[in-house]
Parts: sequence; C-alpha cells; structure tokens
Amino acid sequence: MKTIIANWKMNVGVREAVALARGTLLTLRGRKVSPGLVVCPPAVALSEVRKVLARSSANLGAQNMFWEQSGSYTGETSPRVLNELGVSHVILGHSERRQLLGETDEMVNKKVLQALEQKLIPILCIGETSVQHKEEMTQGIVRDQLLAALQGVRLRSSDVLMVAYEPIWAIGSGEAATVPGVLETHQFIRSLLYELFPQASKTQFSVLYGGSVNPDNAYAFLREDDVDGVLVGGASVKINQFKGIVQAAAEVLEAKLAE
Ligand code: PEP
Repeated sequence: MKTIIANWKMNVGVREAVALARGTLLTLRGRKVSPGLVVCPPAVALSEVRKVLARSSANLGAQNMFWEQSGSYTGETSPRVLNELGVSHVILGHSERRQLLGETDEMVNKKVLQALEQKLIPILCIGETSVQHKEEMTQGIVRDQLLAALQGVRLRSSDVLMVAYEPIWAIGSGEAATVPGVLETHQFIRSLLYELFPQASKTQFSVLYGGSVNPDNAYAFLREDDVDGVLVGGASVKINQFKGIVQAAAEVLEAKLAE
C-alpha cells in the first residue's frame, strides 16, 4: 500500500477546505487501484471536511493535538474531540510547530503517547535542518528525535505508527531530497523501529517521505519499496498537482499488481 498525506496547513478556510476536499476525492475517481489518502485540513474545518469524506475511502487527519483529554488548555484541541470528529490520523511534531511554536521532543512524546492511547494513528514528523544535512548529521538527528518521541511507547498489536521523514530544508523549498538519500534514511528509521519494538509486526510501521513532493518527482519516490507514501504540503492545495501525485501512486500500484 502507498499512502498520501495531504497537509493543507493553514492555507485554506472552511469553505475552501470543503471545495478542496471535493476536488481531492475526484482525484481518486475511476481508478482501478488507489493509494490510501489522509486529508489533514485545519482543525476548524475538520467537521465540514468529514461530511465530504463520508462514504469515501479517504481518511480524516488532524495537523496537531494536545496531550490531555480535557482541561484548562486555552486554544488547544484534545484527542477526545478528534475522536468525536471522526479523525483517524494526527500529524505530530511537524517541523513548523517545532521551529515556530517551540514544540519540544518532550511535548511530541506526550502527544504520541496520548494519540496511541486514544487509538489515533500518529504521523510522527522528524528531519534535519540544512546545516545538519550539510554536516552529515542526519542519522544522529533522526535517531535522537525518534527515540525521544517514542520514549515509553508500548505498541499493542492493533497500533499503527507512521513516521514521516521530512528534511526541514526540503519542506516548501522546491528542493526535494534525493531518492538515494531518502532510502538510506528510511532504512535507518525502519531498523530503529524494529529494534525498539521487536515484538511488533513490520506492517505496523509506515515510513513516508515529505519535502517538496510534486507530480514530477512523486513516482521516483513512490516506486521504492522503502517509501510507504508521501506527505504533501504545498502541492496538496493545488488540485492539478495533487492529482498528478495520486496518478503517480496509482501507476506504481498498478505496476506492482502486474508483477
Ligand atoms: C509539509 O508540510 O510537511 C511538506 C512536506 O510541505 P511541502 O510539500 O510543501 O514541502
């Protein structure tokens, strides 16, 4: 299976989100095989987008959540509310939140623990800065972020964990990482996950790539067995571009079926 996560960030209002959700569903229409789709609108649009996605194969995702179920946490959204809204996935530790809003590894860890507790699938984002990339520190950074975020996690056999490798320098820059670079890091992440959770089945983990994915480069990433999917920001709010990415995933799946 290949999964495409559409992270709309704060780029759409509620009405735009509804229109975009309709357009996003159309990208699946008439296909013999389709990738898994997780649509992540801004929190205020979750409720309306849910109605559009109802009876489709697409899943609803949130872009963030708080680590408590309720309480005096002004402006935060609880996992309880996400469950109520039919959300199945939640992006956690996105670099924009880490860099712009001071989200720490410790906070990300509390969120991952709580998401799993509430049966939400965490899409844990990790990745290195441009300087760290140039200094060849990627594996060390990715390992530290992964171990910190997963501290104390006990995976039950029904739990699923998605990790999105998102080099910060590739996000929104138009400069995607190279396929060999992504594969090396994905294999490293996977080996850490197997080490951390020796009892878990390999199918409980997905490792996705994010960072300037577009219709021209999507196929090259998605055709790789070590890339379970892509997390798409900018191109997910431009329906023609998103359609091209869905098309690339469908071609990969069709080719695999024909093997
Ligand atoms: C992202 O938001 O995580 C992302 C990968 O954005 P973009 O596709 O625009 O690089």
